[in-house]
Amino acid sequence: MGVVTERLISSPKVDASAWQRWLPLSPVDNCTLSSLLSPGMRLVVVAPHPDDEILACAGLLVMHQAQGGEIVVLSVTDGEASHVSSGYWQASELAEVRHLELVAGLNQLGLYGMTIVRLSLPDGAIQQHCASLEQAMTHMLRPADVVITTWRLDGHPDHEATAATASKACMSKGCRLVEAPVWMWHWAKLDDPLVPWHRLFSVPLNAQTVDLKKLALAAHLSQLDPLSRPGGAVLDAAIVARAGWDHEYFFL
Ligand SMILES: [Zn+2]
Repeated sequence: MGVVTERLISSPKVDASAWQRWLPLSPVDNCTLSSLLSPGMRLVVVAPHPDDEILACAGLLVMHQAQGGEIVVLSVTDGEASHVSSGYWQASELAEVRHLELVAGLNQLGLYGMTIVRLSLPDGAIQQHCASLEQAMTHMLRPADVVITTWRLDGHPDHEATAATASKACMSKGCRLVEAPVWMWHWAKLDDPLVPWHRLFSVPLNAQTVDLKKLALAAHLSQLDPLSRPGGAVLDAAIVARAGWDHEYFFL
């Protein structure tokens, strides 16, 4: 638990602009879309919560769609625990709202023909339901698929359980797994020794794709409302700023 405590998600240690100044000087290399995904490959995004598909890889989704690639989004939980103690939402009501926000966000990206698979595992308890997730993934995956999920050391228990399960499913089906840091940017320091920077790669996004990503994140209204929780919006200013970056980052 020591490492988990060190990686505790709280207010960001480094603001988005400081990351932007540091990353070009870091060991993080650029890679291209074609080195990750060819048009004939199916991209399967495994999102622990609605909005992770946008934060992790909205740009990649847009670019893969543009090259004619097939996309599936596996929505693992409905994110109903984001306001658990606020009294602002009933969990069942929020689950429906957040699923609609996921659909709306993907529509903002122009991904109308994609497949969305909704698992509705309990938010905050994926670790206890890994078998169900693994079974769903094993049923769905094909060997040539590329799977993107959150990073296995991201600092959020659901993100880590999803990645660990995706890793098992991908290994058994022979799929390539790519992991995206989402909460890492919140807890890590510049050059943080807990992060394997040499395994992190960035994919550049054009301006139009960045604009679509920002619009897609804006569809997640329940997460952006500062008055809906005592601690303010789930997606705070730092996260929103990072969604405007012109690169996306993946552990390969
Ligand atoms: Zn999440």
